[in-house]
Amino acid sequence: EETSNLTVGVRVRPLIMREQNDTSVVNVVLVDGNEIKVMCESGMAYTFTYDYCFWSCNPEHPSFASQDMVFTTMVQPLIDKAFLGYNACLFAYGQTGSGKSYSMMGIDIGVGNSIGKEAGIIPRFCHELFERIVSLDDSDVVLGKSASSSTKVEVSYFEIYNEKIHDLLGGSYDGGKRTPLKVREHPVFGPYVVDLSVHGVTSYEDLQGWLTVGNSQRATATTGMNEKSSRSHSIFSIILTQTQEETTEGGDYQKHCRHSKINLVDLAGSERLSHTCTSGDRLREGVSINRSLLTLGKVITALAENGSGKKKSFVPYRDSVLTWLLRESLGGNSRTMMLATVSPANIHLEETLATLRYACQAGTIVNRVRINEDPQG
Ligand code: ADP
Ligand code: MG
Repeated sequence: EETSNLTVGVRVRPLIMREQNDTSVVNVVLVDGNEIKVMCESGMAYTFTYDYCFWSCNPEHPSFASQDMVFTTMVQPLIDKAFLGYNACLFAYGQTGSGKSYSMMGIDIGVGNSIGKEAGIIPRFCHELFERIVSLDDSDVVLGKSASSSTKVEVSYFEIYNEKIHDLLGGSYDGGKRTPLKVREHPVFGPYVVDLSVHGVTSYEDLQGWLTVGNSQRATATTGMNEKSSRSHSIFSIILTQTQEETTEGGDYQKHCRHSKINLVDLAGSERLSHTCTSGDRLREGVSINRSLLTLGKVITALAENGSGKKKSFVPYRDSVLTWLLRESLGGNSRTMMLATVSPANIHLEETLATLRYACQAGTIVNRVRINEDPQG
């Protein structure tokens, strides 16, 4: 077992058209190396330090962080770890409209075997996964006939909305209404979603199809697309299994397996309940969303306290669906990263500061990780 700090990146999105056209909106967030500076009206500045800071405000500027740059800098190291057999997790956190979905999914997932310029982390992650698998398969030729390796990729995609789980790639329908799935605890493998569909994929093209299905499912909502996507958490999971079979010169047959579970999470908007609706059904939704996000906050606080060694806090994983399912990713056996997204605009200053503080706290979490291998090497 080794220890691994939660890695934190912060990304600042550009001003959107509406903000550009509003003369009262000014840019108050600066990036300087690993530091983010927020300028307040009083002239005071707050400074925060992270593992990575991405400034994505102006594509013409030399320090602009493109989708490709965010991926190459922050996410590629996570793919390295996944191939070694570590579990991996990346979640996007920030207020609605700050760029979580743009960063995680992006706009153009590409056609055929190519990737679009504006594709986000999830399609790029999958694309790279298959590029590497192809080159691993090629290396079999070098190994010769006495050894062979194979890699299997399986995906699932679901969302948590109103504390209920919906399969975005299948699942059952009950009179036009989607039947929510349940979480259960396996004695060895931990919490899992019962009856969640799992799909084997053999190429990036193959996977694009599932991404398209899932993304269009995600958009289907009675309350309208924006409202729902701001209140739901979506989790895209990949199970990577690498098998190596070998016959030694003495004729002994050996088989080695490495598995890695990867969770790529687009969280619900972090803005407080006061900003959302206040009547009937919609209130209930607000309250439940708050439960998963509130619990995530409590879990992060408890883990940060435990890491500092000041006291031993109880970690309330089971208080929400999200934290129960992501238990291993939060303080467990997983290489975990958080991408906090913020708006550069003065009108969002308060939410931006809240996100930046949250991200600092998350950065103090330490996970205990190991390679998942059988037989244990
Ligand atoms: P969230 O998922 O956090 O609610 P979105 O990802 O939907 O926010 O982003 C809100 C809007 O801002 C979208 O129109 C999106 O295309 C745009 N946007 C966000 N981040 C960027 C970025 N880094 N570059 C360009 N446009 C962005
Ligand atoms: Mg979104």
